[in-house]
Amino acid sequence: MHCDSRTGSGSTERIWSIFDSATKLAAAWLVEAGKAIAVTGAGVSTESGIPDFRSATGLWARFDPQEYATIGAFRKNPEKVWTMLVALEEVLRAEPNAGHRALAALEAEGGIAGIVTQNVDGLHQQAGSSVVVEFHGSHRTFTCLSCGACYAREQVASMTVPPRCTAGSPRARCAAVLKPDVVFFDELIPAPALRDTDRLLAGADLVLVIGTSCEVYPAAAIPQTVRACGGRIVEMNLEPAADLSSDLFLPGPFTRTMPHLLAAWRRQRGR
Ligand SMILES: [Zn+2]
Repeated sequence: MHCDSRTGSGSTERIWSIFDSATKLAAAWLVEAGKAIAVTGAGVSTESGIPDFRSATGLWARFDPQEYATIGAFRKNPEKVWTMLVALEEVLRAEPNAGHRALAALEAEGGIAGIVTQNVDGLHQQAGSSVVVEFHGSHRTFTCLSCGACYAREQVASMTVPPRCTAGSPRARCAAVLKPDVVFFDELIPAPALRDTDRLLAGADLVLVIGTSCEVYPAAAIPQTVRACGGRIVEMNLEPAADLSSDLFLPGPFTRTMPHLLAAWRRQRGR
């Protein structure tokens, strides 16, 4: 019994030591990098209480995206789509976690140039990140598909659901149902997001892939572009993504791996 328990404890220490060594190596690569960027996905927000939309408890298990999250569905029946959007708003009511804050600190202190995120929750910005490209749009702004008028979330918050466009005169009000600027399934990635991604990618020689398997194009092309230019891919996920073949894998939840990496980077940069 005594022997078994010692073996168990030693094994835990070995795993921790491997994790610690991998984090130190990732930190060393970050220090060496000419320009590092991060790509994030649903996994960074799950610990803020936002389930992955595609998981068994996610939004798409309750609302069929073809019926509730396409531009065609919105044009046909915006009131129906707004039943999903109300649920989306509730899901996105969350606070940034320790990982978001550590990543924001890494950017503020010069460790990364910015983030491309597939999330629409705005938690990176709430945590203090300043260069954040929102690949799939944002739920903080709204657009009228009829006349093109734009609205901030504060303006829409006091409207009854579904919110309607107030542009025009009292006698000729637009009154079309507003759509949040989240990218629906059949919509293209917004051109400004693609342009900003290209700008961030230019010269990047290290990418932190966090909380995403980067399976969906065009986000999936980001790590591969960095690699094609001779750069490195550091993956931080619960499980290694099948198609990513990263140079280094840091296993564990974002709230643990990211603060740990920030601490290791600060120590190495100080040398
Ligand atoms: Zn309008």
